[in-house]
Amino acid sequence: MSFQDQRSKEAFVRANGVLPGGVNSPVRAFKSVGREPIFIAKGQGARLWDIDGNSYLDYVLSWGPLILGHAHPAVVDAIKAAAERGTSYGAPTEIETECAEEVLKAFPSMEMVRMVSSGTEATMSALRLARGVTGRNKIVKFEGCYHGHGDSLLIKAGSGALTFGVPTSPGVPSPIASETIVAQFNDLEGLKEIFEQCGEDIAGVIVEPVTGNMGVVLPQPGFLEGLRSLTREYGSLLIFDEVMTGFRVSYGGAQGRFQIDPDLTCLGKIIGGGLPVAAYGGKRKYMEQVAPSGPIYQAGTLSGNPLAMAAGLITLRLLQQDGVYEGLEEKTTRLAEGLKSIAQELGFPIWVNSVGAMFSAFFTNQPVVDFKSACSSDVELFGSFFRGMLERGVYLAPSQYEAVFLSSAHTDEDIDYTLEQARDVFKSLG
Ligand code: PLP
Repeated sequence: MSFQDQRSKEAFVRANGVLPGGVNSPVRAFKSVGREPIFIAKGQGARLWDIDGNSYLDYVLSWGPLILGHAHPAVVDAIKAAAERGTSYGAPTEIETECAEEVLKAFPSMEMVRMVSSGTEATMSALRLARGVTGRNKIVKFEGCYHGHGDSLLIKAGSGALTFGVPTSPGVPSPIASETIVAQFNDLEGLKEIFEQCGEDIAGVIVEPVTGNMGVVLPQPGFLEGLRSLTREYGSLLIFDEVMTGFRVSYGGAQGRFQIDPDLTCLGKIIGGGLPVAAYGGKRKYMEQVAPSGPIYQAGTLSGNPLAMAAGLITLRLLQQDGVYEGLEEKTTRLAEGLKSIAQELGFPIWVNSVGAMFSAFFTNQPVVDFKSACSSDVELFGSFFRGMLERGVYLAPSQYEAVFLSSAHTDEDIDYTLEQARDVFKSLG
């Protein structure tokens, strides 16, 4: 069947009447790839179906959570069984403790954890904790890293060497933005200068230890270690935002893979197996300052929701099976390297960064090591590539600056199919 999108188009017109931009989260609107979004009817394994009946191999996976693929039977069973016992109690359950214990086993830097419902909540709460325990206000973040839409974190670099942030959204008060300092990823010297100037005022440094939100960028050797020692030296907290990388670049996240011991960690996405769960946690001496054991307030009506805990727990248990991560990484590398060699053979610029079960193929000839180099990508070319792949049944994230995610449901045949379609699309663009 050839690609059809009439029904999705109609659904988008209708949605635009009642939802801002027709969506409940901006990237879903496909704005940066020059077409309208497809509306999804169902997902199964590595595949999605839209309401026009097109089927796609899915490399978005709900922006990362679905590492076992869509509607994994064991996850669905766990959710069904939990739902039959009630959907929320607003009172403690044993499964919350079980889930917390699994998380702490996976992330030894975390001695206690608090469950929340979104990555944004996790990072906002971690910042409050860092500010509360240090009695300082300033936060350092890195340009190109995304940590959700909290006021302190919707910030871009201002001008000058020591760049006090400026809001990226109307509605973020500039006094709040000015408490955030924006540094450059992989630039340890720049960070040292910032600490020399105002290290005593810095409550914490928050970082995606492998970035996913300017596309995948790996930390250069020594960068994360440097962050660790600099923050220790100045008594600032090191906060790893592993909402995307947790359970994805390895079971123990980027900190497990690169052997770094942060003070606080934020998790999300995979931890909820496709339901709304996130978490923040870390050293006991800090986490004990969170209410009700301490004075730093944070709460949530649906935090530790029993359906979400059930989906998360079974997901983590399935991920502990032998060979899961080896299989994921092997397929990811084959797809990433395959795309690179096809693009090179057909004369297109390409730079690939790949780790664990995520990668990005940037349409540039420059090595991509930070925000500036990521921005050298040809976004027009990406848009054409994206549209070509979509019409051939391959669903990629609708932006150059996102990661490609794999799941254990993707097969070798799926990778072969994807590479064949990529060759076809590049040829059509040549
Ligand atoms: N942190 C990182 C690294 C993320 O990638 C995201 C979302 O993509 C968030 C935080 C925010 O999570 P949420 O969308 O669940 O609020």
